[in-house]
Amino acid sequence: MPFTTPRGTHDILPDEARRWQWLEARFRHACALAGFGEIRTPMFEETDLFARGVGEDTDIVTKQMYSFTSPGNDRLTLRPEGTAGVVRAAIQHSLLTPGNVEKLFYYGPTFRYERPAKGRFRQFAQLGVEVFGAPGPDIDAELLAFASDFLAGIGLCTAVLEINSVGCPECRPLYRDALRNALAGVRGELCPDCDRRYDSNPLRILDCKVERCRELSADVPVILDVLCEPCKTHLAGVEAGLRALGVAFVVNPHIVRGLDYYTRTAFEFIAGNLGAQNTVLAGGRYDGLVAELGGPATPGIGFAAGVERLLLSVGEGAGETERPGVVYLAALDANARDTALVLATTLRRAGVPTALDYLSRSLKAQMRDANRQGAWYVLILGGDEMTRGEAALRDMRGASQSTLALDAVVPYFRDVYAGLSTTVDKE
Ligand SMILES: [Zn+2]
Ligand SMILES: [Zn+2]
Repeated sequence: MPFTTPRGTHDILPDEARRWQWLEARFRHACALAGFGEIRTPMFEETDLFARGVGEDTDIVTKQMYSFTSPGNDRLTLRPEGTAGVVRAAIQHSLLTPGNVEKLFYYGPTFRYERPAKGRFRQFAQLGVEVFGAPGPDIDAELLAFASDFLAGIGLCTAVLEINSVGCPECRPLYRDALRNALAGVRGELCPDCDRRYDSNPLRILDCKVERCRELSADVPVILDVLCEPCKTHLAGVEAGLRALGVAFVVNPHIVRGLDYYTRTAFEFIAGNLGAQNTVLAGGRYDGLVAELGGPATPGIGFAAGVERLLLSVGEGAGETERPGVVYLAALDANARDTALVLATTLRRAGVPTALDYLSRSLKAQMRDANRQGAWYVLILGGDEMTRGEAALRDMRGASQSTLALDAVVPYFRDVYAGLSTTVDKE
């Protein structure tokens, strides 16, 4: 049997990779405009970092981590999300000094052992941003506008922003009690996970995907009713900021983050076309996380999005930007092939995308190859033209043919391609 990709992973072939490059370029461009600096952290960290930073009781930590013991007996885990590593790095490198606001973005592979489904992989790419040191709510609104504009820029302008407040260590315990009281009579009907959550973390019952749990929790009190004054003021500030920035939103009290270091603002962007996996971008404020991981008490807020799911949501056509086709050098004989080889490298040094035949094929086969590669021009080298120091030039888009002096080839194409972007990075 030939080898294939492990279950839940996928290869990205060149056509698909162009869409990936496009999305990544859009994200990098948006981050540059908003003053985010890139951070690249290792793909694995100490297992305990995720247990602490993501939460012992979460599905991610209990069921989905790729953990292993290294030959040196270190307990390590492939990162299941981006924030814990970024916070670890920010603490390690002393980026979190008081009075400083640090804005960071990341992009890279992430690993979770989940049941593969449409748009859900065991290795997937995540992009995300974190802002440290700003207590909000202005930065919350700005970050949401940033996310909304990024999504609109890749064609997801219909994604709906849902926000909530998950309170703070002052008011959330009251809500936990209220939830337990409201669900006490129906506890036996909750799914086994929610039965466990009832004791450990009842907020997460609101998040359960099991239909019966959703029904049972539909009419429970909402956290907005028990928020303390500072949390209420914060949420009102976020809402006012969103209105000022023209970002549409709805308040959804079922968006929860169960862990203590998540505070106040929580949000999700929902796309209509993805079925059950409909959250395309999610995040929130985590004012307690930096301290939880051993750093100085520092407020933080961020979001993350899965790249596969974003690309699935934006659809096939997106990112298919018009890119210049190559100049294809077709050679008729051995002598012409030598010329083509030198000319191809010279043209590339001049910034002209160039392709040539490596298999000494017939002219007809080379023309087919040129078409397959989407060539804009075919320069035919050899025969009588070559003895006269010329080459036949076929314009594949206009289907016209002319003659070009060999020593004019490089300046001619340098002019044609000048100013045309040949990589998505320049867009
Ligand atoms: Zn509060
Ligand atoms: Zn449940």
